[in-house]
Amino acid sequence: MIKSVAGTRDILPADIAKWKHLQSIVDSVFGNFNYKEIRTPIFEETALFARSIGEATDIVSKEMYTFLDRSGESLTLRPEMTAGVVRAFIEYSLDKKQNLNKLYYIGPMFRQERPQAGRFRQFYQFGAEALGGNDPLLDAEMITMAYDILAQLGLKKLWVKINSLGVPSSREKYKNILRQYLQPYFEKLTAESKKRFDTNILRLFDSKEETDLMIMENAPLLIEYLDDESLEHFEKVKQALLAAGVPFEVNSKLVRGLDYYTNTTFEIVSGSVGSQSALCGGGRYNGLVKELGGNDIPGVGFAAGIERILLACENEKSFALEDEKLDLFIVSIEKGLENFAYRTAIQFRRKGLSVDLDYLSRSVKAQMREANRINAKYVLLIGGEEFEKGEIVLKNMINGEQKNFAKDDLEKIFLSIR
Ligand code: AMP
Repeated sequence: MIKSVAGTRDILPADIAKWKHLQSIVDSVFGNFNYKEIRTPIFEETALFARSIGEATDIVSKEMYTFLDRSGESLTLRPEMTAGVVRAFIEYSLDKKQNLNKLYYIGPMFRQERPQAGRFRQFYQFGAEALGGNDPLLDAEMITMAYDILAQLGLKKLWVKINSLGVPSSREKYKNILRQYLQPYFEKLTAESKKRFDTNILRLFDSKEETDLMIMENAPLLIEYLDDESLEHFEKVKQALLAAGVPFEVNSKLVRGLDYYTNTTFEIVSGSVGSQSALCGGGRYNGLVKELGGNDIPGVGFAAGIERILLACENEKSFALEDEKLDLFIVSIEKGLENFAYRTAIQFRRKGLSVDLDYLSRSVKAQMREANRINAKYVLLIGGEEFEKGEIVLKNMINGEQKNFAKDDLEKIFLSIR
């Protein structure tokens, strides 16, 4: 038997209601903040991700699903959405149509990571990007939207961590200071950190290895070397979060792996999902649009992982959904009425009721059992003496009441059910 690929998951019908519930909250929160949905292709030219995410990141250096198509072009399944959204933004000159574009998305992403709880190779994200504004309110808006979505899902154990990476010029100065601090300890760093020392030194703060952690414990922090403008920007983000009632903590070691971030970075972590605890992350990326060949346009965004969020919801029992109900199940009492039953079902379905009937030639008892199993609100009994008299029987499955109707009076039956 062929099985699903490691790290991919099926979302079976029993789980779909949760996904739809989350999607409806995502659509409604983004809608309330006036963000418009954008859908971009699942694969793009490999160069797009290499350039936007950065060659030195884990995503680009070891996790992308990259392949040559039949014409020899190198394509990659999207590992995240920002690159595709910014590409579309530039390609369709969205900045010419309006100064500020507030966009959101939801869909599958692909990374060849080691599968484990909360880490998949195909996983779903929702997220948002605001392109065209450098207002700190937009940074705060991203954090607020992410927080509100998680809060509306009923999640309680949430920690919002924020930091500022400043502008590239002050960051470059700081990187030299960090390099100087680390020089004497270089030989003690883990192999991975030694590599990052040259390629992506800020990411040494992400290491989980004890030896690295001890060395980084006393490292100088970027926040202490920020220029005034960046500090003011950060201050305004914090004030806006306070105004929005979003609890947060400043974590000066929160650096995130992507090269194009400027100023604000943030992460929301859950206390309910074990070691892969980041539910979402994002930040400002004022350099990205230009880097990808567009105008010098600032941007800010975030992405959130749906599987992890739903896992947190499950562990916190943060919401309960009502069992799905069917409006009507049609029970045929005897053979030969299939056409009448089918036509009746179709008529009610076309009027907007959810209706099902027996397709397996089951006994009346088995059909009633089926009606109960699928939570039918009403059962329409067709056949027997009543049918000979020109009547059919509608049974209310909640209170057991039965009522007879003329068999062609579907409008009256419809009104009783609706
Ligand atoms: P990133 O795009 O790496 O900043 O990730 C944003 C969010 O996506 C994370 O906080 C996770 O919730 C989720 N995520 C990232 N990678 C994976 C993965 N391999 N499996 C499941 N969720 C993921």
